[in-house]
Amino acid sequence: MRKYVIMGVQGSGKGTQSTLLADDLDLAHISVGNIFRWHVKNHTKLGAQVRRLVAAGELVGDDLVEDVVKERLQQHDWNYGFIVDGFPRNRRQAEFFLESYDIDGVILLDLPDDEVRRRVLARRLCSRCGMDYNLIAHRPEAEGRCDVCGGELVTRADDTPDALARRLRDYHDKTDPVVELFRRKEYVMAIDARADKIAVQQEIRARFALPPYRPADARA
Ligand code: AMP
Repeated sequence: MRKYVIMGVQGSGKGTQSTLLADDLDLAHISVGNIFRWHVKNHTKLGAQVRRLVAAGELVGDDLVEDVVKERLQQHDWNYGFIVDGFPRNRRQAEFFLESYDIDGVILLDLPDDEVRRRVLARRLCSRCGMDYNLIAHRPEAEGRCDVCGGELVTRADDTPDALARRLRDYHDKTDPVVELFRRKEYVMAIDARADKIAVQQEIRARFALPPYRPADARA
């Protein structure tokens, strides 16, 4: 059983790196942001509660977030472990998490704010299947269309300069102290996230003594 938390500013590659790790090692990828976006898209009651905050890049209230995480982890579909992405984002969430679950380590993706701005403003998302694109590093073959399902590519509502500035400020004010807390407990492995996605994935695996990444077509 492997239990990780992945941290890093928006655009540092948490979603991409979590997916590469989770698919290969059969971990449940638990992204609070994805859960909220799903509820917004499907017009659920929870979606209505968080829609405005998520679009503005503001943090959702701790009680609600903790309920979502608790409920998700109660599904116990994680026989081989999990990777939690986008949580905890502040000290209270970190305390709740550490009281309820034990973890093997924290993957910290390190990326300077300038690079974050460059990446996030180029980010696109498939409106149908959720696949991530980036107009700098991962362009779709046909402009504006998903390579996998042909869905329309859209900009996340919170990938605007204003929302990004707010999220960066929140990250440094509220999430940096969480990184410090985890660091003191010696959970944190800081990874330079400026390299390309496969190099970053290999570095994560080397640092956590996990088997090296093999692309899907090289697997049996
Ligand atoms: P993300 O995809 O992780 O950037 O999350 C998208 C949005 O979901 C954030 O801007 C917040 O509005 C909300 N959200 C995700 N995770 C949390 C969290 N741990 N605490 C509060 N709000 C969150």
